[in-house]
Amino acid sequence: MLKKLFQSFRSPLRKPQQHVRTTPEVLSSSQHSLQRTQFSRYAVSIVERLQNAGYQAYLVGGCVRDMMLGITPKDFDVATSATPEQVRAEFRNARIIGRRFKLVHIHFGREIIEVATFRANHPQDDEDEDSNQSSRNESGRILRDNVYGTLEEDAQRRDFTINALYYDPVTERVLDFANGVHDIRNRLIRLIGDPQQRYKEDPVRMLRAVRFAAKLDFGIEKHSATPIRPLAPMLRDIPAARLFEEVLKLFLNGYAEPTFEMLVDLELFEPLFPASSKALEYNPTYTHTLISEALANTDLRVKQNKPVTPAFLFAALLWPALPARVLRLQERGMPPIPAMQEAAHELIAEQCQRIAIPKRFTMPIREIWDMQERLPRRSGKRADLLLDNPRFRAGYDFLLLRETAGEETDGLGDWWTDYQDANESGRRDMIRDLGSKSETGQGPRKRRRSGGSKRKRAGADASE
Ligand code: ATP
Ligand code: MG
Repeated sequence: MLKKLFQSFRSPLRKPQQHVRTTPEVLSSSQHSLQRTQFSRYAVSIVERLQNAGYQAYLVGGCVRDMMLGITPKDFDVATSATPEQVRAEFRNARIIGRRFKLVHIHFGREIIEVATFRANHPQDDEDEDSNQSSRNESGRILRDNVYGTLEEDAQRRDFTINALYYDPVTERVLDFANGVHDIRNRLIRLIGDPQQRYKEDPVRMLRAVRFAAKLDFGIEKHSATPIRPLAPMLRDIPAARLFEEVLKLFLNGYAEPTFEMLVDLELFEPLFPASSKALEYNPTYTHTLISEALANTDLRVKQNKPVTPAFLFAALLWPALPARVLRLQERGMPPIPAMQEAAHELIAEQCQRIAIPKRFTMPIREIWDMQERLPRRSGKRADLLLDNPRFRAGYDFLLLRETAGEETDGLGDWWTDYQDANESGRRDMIRDLGSKSETGQGPRKRRRSGGSKRKRAGADASE
């Protein structure tokens, strides 16, 4: 993957900084592989309807890019010269939604087509006389970008050349303003315009570059890759809620594992997960194996259309940062279990400063971690109670993950695997055997604690 990243500059004839043309290259239906019938018929009918009403309208972005690559698009986006209000006036099933900018969602049963009005970038030195409120901050980051524009301006404000292709299903022509077709053929992620400036305008584009490179198995073009490391710290200024959304997109699209490798390599992982990034430094093998295994499992589940829980993902991403904190608190005299609880609390609170993980996920993260304390304690009715716990499966999977990463648990994972498979009398025997050969969980309260600290010691071992 890394090799690919650096050998990716394959177009010596092109200037590094290529700008959007005002007249696009127009590809007729014989010059590209797209067919109208491959696109959502709803999206095509929206384009036709808008054009009939006198507006410009195209299919744009990810769906055109993915179709050219033979990938089934996630969704279909339409770009138009009509304002959101004008779009709404044309369709009964349309709703204006506005988060960062106003968009129209047109509903067809469960399918939603997003229609966006052409937008323009703010000029770089935005000094409107009547504007005390600049649309950029001192570092060039765009704070407001809901200004409507022309088709050409819309192409120019898009992030990558491969995302600035417009397909007209009526004439079956593709408009290419930024040599996107060339970059698709050469499998390159290339920013439109000056990379440094475009990253400064919106540092999230650095994450998008990695996301598309991993998903499409493209290289990041050299001039688009070079500014990433020095600009990576700018991600610290991005609102934590937006980063949460972006991180989910990075890790739930079926390519989380290669994405993680690239994030680390391009130094983008540190501003997102500072504590885990430290763990990667002081305990590289364990941390790397645990995270990449968790992500590879997630990718597999996504590809098999199985549900994935962000809580498990975050639990794994943060877990390697726990032992060092537990130790620090213990050194200050805190007993093992409270130290573990406190470390978990601190770590999640700190992480939420960067990435706003909602409560509905932080609770299960804690539960998955707590389960790691409880899985070694199996005597009496404890094992059966744990088995009935709704979080058991996640806790058990997490235990196996820790073992895969090299944590020593005294065969606990195998024990639980066998226990789940055993019948009633087999289970009774397993619990009895446990009592005769293991101290864990059998004795009074004090003994149980030693079980807890044993597990924790395993975690601490891994951090050495
Ligand atoms: P996918 O939906 O498959 O992840 P996409 O390219 O459709 O990929 P979206 O996030 O849906 O990605 O964005 C739609 C389009 O909007 C992009 O193709 C791009 O042209 C533009 N875009 C999105 N985010 C940005 C950004 N931060 N800066 C510039 N353009 C952007
Ligand atoms: Mg999209």
